[in-house]
Amino acid sequence: MSALVTAGLLVAPTAQAVDTAPVDPRPSTAKLAVQLHKLAIQSHGKVRVTPIGRSNENRPVWAARVGHGKVKIQYVTQQHGDEPLGTPAALEFLRTVGVGNSAWQRKLLSQVTVDIIVRANPDGHERNWRYNYDPTAVPEYGEAGKGYDINRYHDPAVAPADNPATEAGLIQRRFAAVQPDIMVDYHMQGRYKDASGKEITASTLWPTNAGVKPADVDFAKQIAVVVQRSINGAGGNVTQYPGGDYQGIARNGYGLLGSGSVLVELSDIPGREQHQISDALASMLAIARSAANGSVHTIDPAAATAIPPRGPALPGFAEDEHDAA
Ligand SMILES: [Zn+2]
Repeated sequence: MSALVTAGLLVAPTAQAVDTAPVDPRPSTAKLAVQLHKLAIQSHGKVRVTPIGRSNENRPVWAARVGHGKVKIQYVTQQHGDEPLGTPAALEFLRTVGVGNSAWQRKLLSQVTVDIIVRANPDGHERNWRYNYDPTAVPEYGEAGKGYDINRYHDPAVAPADNPATEAGLIQRRFAAVQPDIMVDYHMQGRYKDASGKEITASTLWPTNAGVKPADVDFAKQIAVVVQRSINGAGGNVTQYPGGDYQGIARNGYGLLGSGSVLVELSDIPGREQHQISDALASMLAIARSAANGSVHTIDPAAATAIPPRGPALPGFAEDEHDAA
């Protein structure tokens, strides 16, 4: 068979088999780069992959962008190195919306631009710890000799050039370049139950800093309701997250800068990782779709305050440092 015929067969339309293989929940940072560049090729350039800088240990921090619509959305995953599952969910999001050329994909990508920082903290991932890697750090937020808690260094009053947490500065710069209408930050929490005793699979919260404009808080609440409905609709159980008011937390910092800024916390439930990844994917898709068709704006923000509060930790599980978002 000639090369030409082979090439013709390769580009011919084929029945799309649904990929049901398990997703790697913790790809190495090298594998992550390979997967992102594979998506760029498989999407015929619709997924655009670029390094936005380097970690303290010189690992690339990647952003991947898809779509060209006027509504701008930014997702950030894995600011905390030991909270991995938002990262494979982001890869699946890019694959779902970027690979293929169906009518719904074309429409969505004409309406929204989604920019994702995929694994903000590769050095923390490498060590399976929360912080970045900075052995000289004596941080206000973080741990001396280990590094900074990246998700405490998004205070809009601190310029990226002055940011002691390198990877937080990279996120600040990317945010400023993208100017997203919506910013959603994916984390992981411990194991909790709700008032009925049912295990919680995810929690969400909007900005709680008093300086965030009420209209921006309301928009974030509308997005949080999209998160709740999409994850509950996929079989999860979403509560509010009991988060703090500090302006250096991404949820607050980017709310102060005018985005609809929301936190998503996936519970760390052994044996449920694949489901957690698909729930996070469902939320990413639902946010993009509801922003694209405008339906997010029709949600009553009061529905967010009706999301039940997070209950106590499961017996035997500490209210651990995950609690600090
Ligand atoms: Zn976290």
